[in-house]
Amino acid sequence: MPAYRDQGIVLRCKLYRDNDSLVTLFLINHGKVAAVGRGVRNPKSPLNGGLYPLSYSGFELYRGRSSLESITTADVIRGFGKIRGDLDRIGWASVLAEVVDECFSDHDPAPEAFYILVAGLQALNEGRHPPSAAMAAIWQLLRAAGFVDRFDYCPHCGVRLDGPLLWVSGAKDPSCPLCAGSKRTKTFSSGAVKTVNRWLEATPDKFGGVEVRGRLIQEMVDWLSMTLASQIHRIPKSLGFINQLLDQEVEEPR
Ligand SMILES: [Zn+2]
Repeated sequence: MPAYRDQGIVLRCKLYRDNDSLVTLFLINHGKVAAVGRGVRNPKSPLNGGLYPLSYSGFELYRGRSSLESITTADVIRGFGKIRGDLDRIGWASVLAEVVDECFSDHDPAPEAFYILVAGLQALNEGRHPPSAAMAAIWQLLRAAGFVDRFDYCPHCGVRLDGPLLWVSGAKDPSCPLCAGSKRTKTFSSGAVKTVNRWLEATPDKFGGVEVRGRLIQEMVDWLSMTLASQIHRIPKSLGFINQLLDQEVEEPR
């Protein structure tokens, strides 16, 4: 199968050699693929628009002897141009792309995750509340990759949860107050637990429908960060940027 067509999202794009781009694509039928777009620094290159980061494009690729595939055509299907007009949206869209990049392996198709990613970008592009829309999509991506599931029962003792969750430092996941005992912990409120469960239940076209506001945003970002650190062992760089934006909001109340 040297040449093939597929559709996908541009997760990353960086300059490579003199005139080329090294891109990471997340394709519907071929999963994550590293590929080279040749001559893209030429303003007249037909590849330009379709390789813009976070674009949803149709691709024609060629697999030669090199481990990198070559992109022969890239046509934009949805550019999600409104995301670029707002720092909060760009930040959250970048977290989405980084999480997909970390959670899925090369050449391993994950169509469910692909549609979750597209729905998350679409919700951000439509101007839905960025933290709420993006975090709903990210929790569903983590579930699609097999890292998390609903928080209905304590993962340690199996008791039904209807209150806050506690996270003992160094543990893999949070637990009920009884299991946490007197160890040093971070607490996630029952409101946070309910929100994660509702985000996990949402159909992708409703991402952003369950909104978090005020201090609950930072609580949800902290919980997401701890989950990413314990499950994929890396906190996305763009989540650091989101935390800076949240700090600014606290310092400059409007
Ligand atoms: Zn327990």
